[in-house]
Parts: sequence; structure tokens; C-alpha cells
Amino acid sequence: MSAAEQAQLAQFDHAHLIHPYTSMTEPSPVFLVQSASGCELHLANGQTLIDGMSSWWAAVHGYNHPVLNAAIHRQLQHMSHVMFGGLTHEPAIRLAQQLLAICPKPLQKVFFSDSGSVAVEVAIKMAIQFWQAQGKPQKCRLLSLRRAYHGDTFAAMSTCDPVTGMHSLFENNLTRQFFADAPRSRFHEPWDDTDISSLRAIVSTHHESIAAVILEPVVQGAGGMFFYSPQYVREARKLCDEFGLLLIADEIATGFGRTGKLFACEHAGISPDIMCVGKALTGGYMTLAATLTTEHVAATISQNGGSFMHGPTFMANPLACAVAGASLELLLSSQWQENVARIEQQLQAELAVCRDSSSVADVRVLGAIGVVELKQPVDMTSIQPRFVELGAWIRPFGKLVYIMPPYIITTQQLSTLCTAVATVMQELDAGIRG
Ligand SMILES: *Cc1c(COP(=O)(O)O)cnc(C)c1O
Repeated sequence: MSAAEQAQLAQFDHAHLIHPYTSMTEPSPVFLVQSASGCELHLANGQTLIDGMSSWWAAVHGYNHPVLNAAIHRQLQHMSHVMFGGLTHEPAIRLAQQLLAICPKPLQKVFFSDSGSVAVEVAIKMAIQFWQAQGKPQKCRLLSLRRAYHGDTFAAMSTCDPVTGMHSLFENNLTRQFFADAPRSRFHEPWDDTDISSLRAIVSTHHESIAAVILEPVVQGAGGMFFYSPQYVREARKLCDEFGLLLIADEIATGFGRTGKLFACEHAGISPDIMCVGKALTGGYMTLAATLTTEHVAATISQNGGSFMHGPTFMANPLACAVAGASLELLLSSQWQENVARIEQQLQAELAVCRDSSSVADVRVLGAIGVVELKQPVDMTSIQPRFVELGAWIRPFGKLVYIMPPYIITTQQLSTLCTAVATVMQELDAGIRG
């Protein structure tokens, strides 16, 4: 692409396109990507970046994978889409079979939707309808955790951290939910029993008005990238059982191996009543999510002929289901556990140096996720171009600089990412960028 063409595209983007969480009139700079393959993003200006983000947890096999490309081509010969009302198709059925084979066993029903946030909306509707059907409409509120992130649509947003989760902006339009203190016991550290006190107190006081507890098992993602003790998840499960609440596990970020287990619930050895998956479900190829639930929840909702009341236009899109099926097959037949363990070790080893930085508050690693938490929020206008200069696609937010690469990343590519982070930390210490 000529420099003039690039400039034209960039100019139009700047004038007319809205990017995530940015000013509608003074957007921050964006980089024009022409193609991507493996763990590399190829910019239109000829530069190549190593991908440290997996396009937000999704592209676990890297980009432009021949097996996934072939799955889409194959499905395209049959049909790209048909409505799911009154019709069904093999890609959706096969994908549901694959999911049920790997998800916690009590989960037996699958609802396909088009994004993670919608999968959370669906989970919340299931929980509310579950109590409605039993004549308990007052059990309609959610109990979430501080520092949680569950998506950007309204019901999902109502369960995000009240401070960082945009609640003040949309206050008058948001359902008020309950929030327990965020877990403090870290993943690799001993469990502190007082950690569950807040959740227990709210459950015991308010269980008559609560439909479900919703949490991101083990990894609180976009709300703070914090790895917490699986014992918290076990305790939450116990409380739900004791007080008759449903447990919703949001595995949209953690699903499909990212934490070293196929699903983060496995660290705790528990099974939720409702589970949401998305992001890596299609290997980052297309937008698709799923909400799974148990026979019991399904049978209760529909006990008097009741229907489950949701149905997106693009529900169970065949192209997306076909590539998701191929992605799952690829994942399960790969050495993903070895890869994630290798990435974890290398992140531990190569991000450790950041602990010496005076700008850094904490360095933590779990599975294929490496996080460097700073003492101050980063200056994105300076730090983002610097990472690009260093050949790394790393997109920090707030105080968090983190790496979550495709599982296929090579040792050398991962070193490029870790070195870029360490270099930028040194520069911060030296006051080169604020
Ligand atoms: C990304 C994410 C969502 C929302 O998914 P979208 O596809 O962006 O709507 C929900 N929950 C968690 C834990 C996520 O990481």
C-alpha cells in the first residue's frame, strides 16, 4: 500500500471511526494493520510487531492459521448463515458436542450468542427466569465482586466494579447489584479465611433477593488483572449451595487454556450452574460466545411450558460455529498445556527484572498471562508508540502492562515482548517517559 493510501485511510479513520473507549473527536493514534500471521502483526508501513495481546485473549492459535482458514472456506461452500429459529445445522450441533465434552459435566444445555457481553446477559436472564418460574420474582438481583468485569452491555455492566465499571456515568439506567469485597488471597499464596467474609455476609443477609453470584473464576481480568485463590471460588460455591443461589462462572477471558487449565473453574474443582465462554472460542476468528447451563436450571425455567426469552438474529452463526469447532479440535490436539507452562515459566523468568523498577508495584504471572502493575497509570500517548518502536504489540490500560500471547509464540518472540516491557520500565524509572 502506498504511503499516500495509508495516509488517506488513517485520515478517514481519525475523522469518522470510533475506537474502543476513546474520544469521539480527539482519538488517540491507531496503527494500520494490513495482515497478520502466526504471532506477527504486519503494519501497512512495513513494520512487523510481535503480538502480545492475542487480540484480547482470543487468538490463541495465532493469526491466519491454515486449519482455521480451511474450516471457514469449507463452511462457506454450504452456507454462511441461516436463522436459528426453527432451523438447526451441523456446525452448531458439533460445536455443542465438543463443548459439553470438555466443560464441567453438569452443564448440559448450550445457548450460542454473538459476544461475551451478550453471553453474560443471557446468563443473567437464565438466573432470573429460574427464580421467576418458581414463583420467586423477588430473587432477581446479582451478587458480584469488586474489581469484576463482565462486559459493556447494561446488565453485564451493572455487575462490573462500581468504581472502574462506568457506574457513575450510567447510574440512572443501571440495576443496583450487590458487591462483595474483591478477593485478596493471591493464587499462589495461602488462603486467608477472612477473605470470604464479605461475600458470606451479603449472602446471608440478602439471599432472599439474590438470584445468583457471578464471578470470573481465579482471574479478575479487565477490572484489574488479579489472580486469586481457587479456595475463594470453592467457598463461593459452598455459600451458593447453602443458601440456594445459582453460581455463574464468567470464563470468557479464562476459558480454553489461558490459565493452564482448560477452564479456570478446574483450579477450584467446582462446577457452576451457568457458565459463559467467548473470546478464544473461535480462536479469535469470529465473534461467538456461549452460555451453558444444567438440566436442572433448564427444566426449572421451562417446567410450566416456559420458554427461555432470548434469541439473537445471528444466533449460532454457522461460519463462527465451524471455525470454533476447528479451533477446539486444534487446541485439544495441540501441546497447549506444555505451551502455556513454557510461556508461564518464561514470563516468570523474564518479567522478574521489572520488580527492580521503582515504577513497578507488582509483577505477577499465571498461565499465559504476565502482568506488570505500575504505581502510576501509564501515559498511553507515549508508551504505546514506544512499544511499537520496540516491535511489540502490547496495549496497557491504567496501571497495567500485560502480556497474553498466542500459545504458539516462540521463545524468541516472547523474549522480544518481555524485553520491550523491561526496557520501557527502565525508561520510566529514568524519567524518559512519564
Ligand atoms: C471480554 C469479557 C467480557 C465481554 O465480552 P465481549 O465479547 O467483549 O462482549 C465479559 N466477561 C469477561 C470476563 C471478559 O473478559
